[in-house]
Amino acid sequence: MNAPARQNPFFEPWTGPFELPPFDRIRAEDFQPAYERAMAEHNAEIAAIVADPNPPDFDNTVTALERAGAAMNRVGGVFWNLTGTESTPELQAIERELAPKLADHYSAIGLNEALFKRVEAVWKQREALALTAEQKRVLELTYDGFVRSGALLAPEQKTRFAEIASRLATLGAQFAQNILKDEADWAMLLEEGDLDGLPQSLRDAAARAAADRGHAGKFAITLARSSVEPFLTYSARRDLREKAFAAWIRRGENEGPTDNRAIAAETLRLRDESARLLGYPTYAHFKLSDQMAKTPENVRGLLDKVWTPAKAAVARDRGALQELVAAEGGNFEIAAHDWRYYAEKLRKALHDIDENEIRPYLELEAVIGAAFDVAHRLFGLTFAERSDLVLYNKEARAFDVTDAQGKHVALFIGDYFARPTKRGGAWMSGFRSQSKLDGKDVRPIVVNVLNCAKGAEGQKTLISLTDAKTLFHEFGHALHGMLTQTTYPSIAGTNVARDFVEFPSQLYEHWLLRPETLARFARHAETGAAIPDDLVARIRASQTFNVGWEKVEFCSSAIVDLDLHLLSPAEDFDIVGFERAQLEKIGMPREIVMRHRTPHFGHVFSGSGYASGYYSYLWSAVLDTDGFAAFEEAGDVFDPQTARRLKDHVYAAGNSAPPEEAYRAFRGRDPDARALLKAQGFA
Ligand SMILES: [Zn+2]
Repeated sequence: MNAPARQNPFFEPWTGPFELPPFDRIRAEDFQPAYERAMAEHNAEIAAIVADPNPPDFDNTVTALERAGAAMNRVGGVFWNLTGTESTPELQAIERELAPKLADHYSAIGLNEALFKRVEAVWKQREALALTAEQKRVLELTYDGFVRSGALLAPEQKTRFAEIASRLATLGAQFAQNILKDEADWAMLLEEGDLDGLPQSLRDAAARAAADRGHAGKFAITLARSSVEPFLTYSARRDLREKAFAAWIRRGENEGPTDNRAIAAETLRLRDESARLLGYPTYAHFKLSDQMAKTPENVRGLLDKVWTPAKAAVARDRGALQELVAAEGGNFEIAAHDWRYYAEKLRKALHDIDENEIRPYLELEAVIGAAFDVAHRLFGLTFAERSDLVLYNKEARAFDVTDAQGKHVALFIGDYFARPTKRGGAWMSGFRSQSKLDGKDVRPIVVNVLNCAKGAEGQKTLISLTDAKTLFHEFGHALHGMLTQTTYPSIAGTNVARDFVEFPSQLYEHWLLRPETLARFARHAETGAAIPDDLVARIRASQTFNVGWEKVEFCSSAIVDLDLHLLSPAEDFDIVGFERAQLEKIGMPREIVMRHRTPHFGHVFSGSGYASGYYSYLWSAVLDTDGFAAFEEAGDVFDPQTARRLKDHVYAAGNSAPPEEAYRAFRGRDPDARALLKAQGFA
């Protein structure tokens, strides 16, 4: 007798709590067949729209497109989250194989002539149709989306355009996997005697990392930012700092199968070709045309405003650091692997601030509680942990989010600890997005992924101030994903311009260091004592310390990203040589290295999301500093009226209005960059 064939869980209705994906039953081998069936369903939905005998109208064309692809979203929601957090060689192989197929699938829809004709017909009548503002916006964006996907190209151009998209998808997947591999393959094993200067938290994390790698009793520094950065900040061993730093900045540039240089060069050539097909002079022009910044000149203008004073600040700080070296009897010039170490010493000297004094007050649990509390005070949200739900990893936690009336708003999943199968960095994503199509109120499932180093067995996890800021940042994105109230899924939540999407997240960071937040949540992990007022004051006073270095590290990456996408690279284009030449041109300080060097610049090359878009963080910083000032001007950082406007026009609005209009509706005027320059001490 044969056992009944196992049913693919993607083909069954998900009837569990919150209609969560049945994680315990999903296996890697389910994805290929699930995607194939989802693509077939999607194609059938598209074919039905095209075959509709009725003349095209908003509902039978645009709304129908919004409904289409539900199965793709179900499968993709699980797949893309797992490739980021539970990556295995098996999943990676599937990803490499799937990436070009998915690109082909979406290209075929974007280039479907009959479908575009219908969209175009509706778009041409847009003024005559009695559309709501949201519908008008969706129609414009849908039409633009087709045009940007090549719908107006001649037939042979369309073929080439689709080929490029397919190849770019393969290259992007490979680029990301190569970084992951370079990070996973490297670890610096240390003995007890090599740990000079390292705080206990880092020693504990390094001991765990070594044990995880089969070297119990030793200590491992890895290339995860949460390991290597604190090591560079505290290790008194200049030789080891140099070794770790060299490996860190060489990710993606190690010759052999994980080398990303040729991949990046080919990506740039293909992006340039696709932008030219669409009639833009460069890829940067294409990419920025539908962003808030609009043009490369506007981007460069903002970067330059910050670059010059940041460099001047670095020159001042360098002198102070060099004095510290001399005072220690050192006889060397500050190098890139020294900057963090001496900057930390200088910070301690100037502001009497020591990470190790702060850390005991920043228990992970308390910081999560603080992020929830701010959302409660601003937006009336309540978070109830649901430990009964089965998620994709035991470390991930779920919270039922409800509003002031007790109505379900979203399911929030927090996945906070670093593990070898997790991509580095921190991000927000989702398993389901929000919509209100056909009267069905679909609420989102949103995820925050971080890479905090877990506390030792049986110990509380204490995190750095940087990790706490990251937690607030990603939680700001999560709120943007959870509070959304649009009808149409394509404009829900974080589906906004890339240079606007960091506004809700960066804005949220401002509440972390408010005395109103810290006094309530930052309690000593052992004694339970509240964080002393004077420590809060010292932390706040030190916020602009080393800001020149931070901005140089950031702006150099953003400038190189922009410059790379203003090129028409030749076949033998040398990305590292170009990077070096551009940095020289802008006068990059010798002792600072770009935050993301080109061979491991995942933002820009793992996908096109941030391609010629890395500046977005700075663009959004103009909005968040100027935006937070609205609360300060109101005299209360939880001012209900300001919070209400923020929720209505930003966190709940998705992409239902152009970003500049959304900002104006919240703030009552256009953003003013002077607030940012002033906050950095650059005014
Ligand atoms: Zn972000």
